[in-house]
Parts: sequence; C-alpha cells; structure tokens
Amino acid sequence: MPKINYKSVEEIELIRESSLLVSKTHAEVAKIIAPGVTTMELNKLAETFIRDNGGVPAFLNYNGFPYSLCISLNDQVVHGFPSKHVLVEGDLVSVDCGVILNKYFGDSAFTYAIGEVDETTKTLMRVTRECLDLGVAKAVVGMRIGDIGYAVQEHAEKHGFGVVKELVGHGVGIRLHEKPEVPNYGKRGSGIKLEEGMVIAIEPMINAGRAGVKFWDDGWTVSTVDKKPSAHYEHTVAVGKGKPDILSTFEYIDKVLEEKNNN
Ligand code: MG
Ligand code: MG
Repeated sequence: MPKINYKSVEEIELIRESSLLVSKTHAEVAKIIAPGVTTMELNKLAETFIRDNGGVPAFLNYNGFPYSLCISLNDQVVHGFPSKHVLVEGDLVSVDCGVILNKYFGDSAFTYAIGEVDETTKTLMRVTRECLDLGVAKAVVGMRIGDIGYAVQEHAEKHGFGVVKELVGHGVGIRLHEKPEVPNYGKRGSGIKLEEGMVIAIEPMINAGRAGVKFWDDGWTVSTVDKKPSAHYEHTVAVGKGKPDILSTFEYIDKVLEEKNNN
C-alpha cells in the first residue's frame, strides 16, 4: 500500500498552478455549454485550451480513458464519455477535468444545468455544491478524513439525497490518484489525521434518489440504479492550519455563468 506523499510548500504552489489551469478550462467550457452543443465539442475545446496553456489533459489515456474530459449526463454519476449527444434544455451535465502541468496534477469538477432544469435538479445542484463547501471546510490540520465524509453525508442525507459510496475523493500530486482515499461518508473523528502537506481532491457525488450506482460495460461510465439525476462538484485542496487552502476555484465559472444569465 503506497504511503501518503506529503508536499512541500513549493510543490503545493505547482499543484495550485495545475488546479488554476483546470479552473480556467472549466470557464472555457462554461462559455459555450448550451442547448445545441455536443459534449464532444466541449471535450475538444478543453483539450485544445489545456495544450495551448502548456498542460497535458490528465484524463486522456489514464488507465485507457479515451477523452480529456469526463462528461456525465443526467443519471450518469461520473466517468461518462463525451459523445455526439446534442445537449438539450433540461440536461444536467457533470464535467470533470484534470491537467498535468510541470509534472503536477490538478483535478476539479462542476455540474451545469442546461437552460431550465426541474426543481429537484436545482436543489440537487445547490445541495451538492454545499456538500463540497462543507467537506472542504474540514480540510484543516487536526481534523480527520471521517470529518470530511461526515459533513458531506449529513448534509446530503438531510435533504433526502443518496451519497455515492463506491467512488471516493483522493490525494493529488505527482499522480492523479494518491493516498489517502477521501470518502463522502464517514464518522466524525475517524480515519487518518489531516496534516500540513496533504493535498486532497474532495468530490461529493450526490444522487437525487437512491445511493446505488451501476458500472457500465464500457468500463467507465457510472450511473444511478434508479435513473434519477446525479450531481458532482470537486476541488483540489491543501490541508491548512486553521483554514483550508483551496487550490482550484469556481470563480471563473461563476463569472461566466453570471454574464451569460445577464444576456
Ligand atoms: Mg475529477
Ligand atoms: Mg478526482
């Protein structure tokens, strides 16, 4: 079992740069995501933008994954394939992006509503993003991994939503997936201690209905068993003293979406 790679301050700055490129890539996706666009167009845009900025798409060829983005529609939870699917009003689209820049990884996911979505889906998106914020808030020295999972699970289940257990967050650094695992469920005060130098991806995957998921024959796509929608938000975070150091950001995405709303 590999051990946790604790990062130096310099390494954390490199992961911050990678995570910022991920965040800016998301903003490019946010600019064009709309009814009539195919998910493959989003993938191409992201790949070009990452390479133009000196990065390498981290998911492309990762364990054989064939695309630069994971794009998961509606009842798909994560790891969906970009395709010729044309987005339509009411679609819920989770976009997960990773890059390698200067040998370090960054990883972040965001879920988009295409036009107007139904009320349950709106609530699901809001609550999942709140779950991420609540989990991230626990990424401080002295807390434990279980404190993050507890915060996410408690908030999701309070709203009657299902927490995906089969997939978890992870350490990030010179590999996309490092120790420790960061589950979206858990007991307060349980699990390994969070210490300075730890960089983790916190990524709640929350289902509108039951928690259960199924794994597709394509080897990648994960969807809900009850066919109800699922949302996914993710940040790369350095464990901090007193407060978390969030290395990725939704600032650029939020700005783009706000400008689109005003037009
Ligand atoms: Mg991710
Ligand atoms: Mg991740």
